[in-house]
Amino acid sequence: MRLYKLALLAAKKISHTLYCPDQVYSCLIYGCLQNRSSETTAKDKETALPLEKIKKVLHQYWGYNSFLPLQQESMTAVLSGRDTVVVLPTGGGKSLCFQVPAMLLPGVTVVVSPLISLMKDQVDALHENGIAAGRLDSSLSPEEQRGTIYDLLQGDLKLLYISPERLLTGGCLDMLKKAKVSFIAIDEAHCVSMWGHDFRPEYRQLNLLRKHFPKAVFGAYTATATSQVRSDICAQLTLKDPEMLVGSFDRPNLSYTIRQRVDITKQVVRVINEHKDQSGVIYCIRRKDVEDMTEKLNKLGYKAAAYHAGMSDKDRKGNQDKFIKEKVDIIVATVAFGMGIDKSNVRYVIHAGMPKSLEHYQQESGRAGRDRLEAQCWLFYGPGDYMLWKRLISDSDNAQAVKIALAKLSHMYNFCTSGNCRHQTILKYFGQTLDKENCQACDVCLGELEEVADSLVIGQKILSCVARLGQSFGGNYTAQVLTGSEDMRILEARHNELSTWGLLREFNRSVIQNWIEQLCGQGFLVKAGEYNVLHITEKGLELLRGKEKPRLLKPLDKKEKVSKTAAGTERPQQDWQGVDMALFEKLRDFRSAKAYSKGLPTYVIFGDATLRELARYKPTNEEALLEIKGIGQKKADQYGKDILEILAGHKP
Ligand code: ADP
Repeated sequence: MRLYKLALLAAKKISHTLYCPDQVYSCLIYGCLQNRSSETTAKDKETALPLEKIKKVLHQYWGYNSFLPLQQESMTAVLSGRDTVVVLPTGGGKSLCFQVPAMLLPGVTVVVSPLISLMKDQVDALHENGIAAGRLDSSLSPEEQRGTIYDLLQGDLKLLYISPERLLTGGCLDMLKKAKVSFIAIDEAHCVSMWGHDFRPEYRQLNLLRKHFPKAVFGAYTATATSQVRSDICAQLTLKDPEMLVGSFDRPNLSYTIRQRVDITKQVVRVINEHKDQSGVIYCIRRKDVEDMTEKLNKLGYKAAAYHAGMSDKDRKGNQDKFIKEKVDIIVATVAFGMGIDKSNVRYVIHAGMPKSLEHYQQESGRAGRDRLEAQCWLFYGPGDYMLWKRLISDSDNAQAVKIALAKLSHMYNFCTSGNCRHQTILKYFGQTLDKENCQACDVCLGELEEVADSLVIGQKILSCVARLGQSFGGNYTAQVLTGSEDMRILEARHNELSTWGLLREFNRSVIQNWIEQLCGQGFLVKAGEYNVLHITEKGLELLRGKEKPRLLKPLDKKEKVSKTAAGTERPQQDWQGVDMALFEKLRDFRSAKAYSKGLPTYVIFGDATLRELARYKPTNEEALLEIKGIGQKKADQYGKDILEILAGHKP
């Protein structure tokens, strides 16, 4: 022990003048640890760990009494020494799949994670649960890093988070070999694959780990993995006969609504007003839109901050921090925002423009409701979005990449315009199916869009008009002709003399334009050239012959919607059932104060799910407190007394 401290002092001295992590590792390793055993021995691994032990740890440290799908299987696989690949959606509880086994295995578990912010959040959350965890990354001071290394070599850490770049340096590997590494968990494992959407070359080097730690168990964890990516993960990490655990990608707590963009500020404000004081993300396609929207929202009295790649690092980081620490409710951002954001209580995500692929949409909208409580995803698309993306995508010289990207764009566009269940469509795209007819959580299944009774006739009228116009005009002009507009352009071209002029005059232009978009999305029309000129496809010709039928939808008007809701089709809000709202707010204030004093995000102290349980069941003593989901022993020790006082003092 004394030797350790002397070595540490020596290390500090060396690094005082010129800090170099490798020097610190070497000094600590060679100064005092030559005799420490390297990895877990076979005997260590033999320790059979029954389910009861797993359950005990889950309850004691995390305050949970049951498993989420595949958690039990993945934990037992690791503990029986089997490599695993775990594919679960965001919010599926992947972190516990490696954190719980780490508590039961001898020695330390190394978690490879690509982003500092993710590592920090997870380590802070583990500390809050009373678990000895550390991280090594470039944001830490040399002192802090030495502290972590010291704890590691003392055998005092159960989990060590580290980036792949750092892990693969010679000094770090040598140091870890002197610690007792039982288990290596690769988080965000899709980064290993060139086929994934976020390939990171440094993840490729992780194939060296097996050589350095031949006896350790390996686990790979990701939310997005096609079968191609999965095979790549196994090959790249040289996993040995891994157990493949693939869960459903569905996120039943997310409800999807898609509407045409009409007056975007008004539409966005309506959603925000349904989520007073709650956190939300608004995605815009362009930086300029981000700035405009942020300014408008702030002028209207909302607390919003901007985030895009054109801002300085400092401003971007500052705004992200404000959002995470809940100093602003709303972040308005381009796609640049989101990676590494673990904020669990984002209650809504709005897309003010259509993303370029369903992968992007799934990932961005998926930032809502990580805490598994209900959250809303709104997408407002406009006819220009498709063309804007098409132009940007087509700019590339790589013909193959352009082809793939355009196919993805078409899928996305179809998703907006097809009127099929949103959950089902997303799942299908990722090769799975929903096991129920009605998802009860999208505008289509909740009957917020109605199919127009005479879709076929309307479709035929629109296509006839396109034909009469010589397939030479865009959607806006065609819709104008169909409404019987007497616009100068139309009169000058004598299109008011066409038989299709005014054929749909009982509808307004935006409704017709939306149907034109739907006909494009459903493959009856295509937009061509620089001016998005409408052309009739083969399938469109079949529609004109009456052999194909489109599915044209329009949103219910307000009156119809109210009567439907009264009939019991409103969105499920059971997560709030029995929650004393005034008490919930008091607990939120308590959580904010604690988070502020500790400099931590609020969700690291308690998730919203835990606060709702407290405000629902109102436990009166510590024993009952420990039955609340998300309150383990450490949190009960730290905050239990204050919480019980708040609960006792609350008069409903
Ligand atoms: P992922 O890493 O897959 O996105 P997380 O590990 O962040 O998911 O978990 C998502 C949420 O689910 C967190 O709030 C976490 O505390 C909660 N959670 C995890 N496991 C359980 C469980 N067994 N019971 C209840 N909640 C859980």
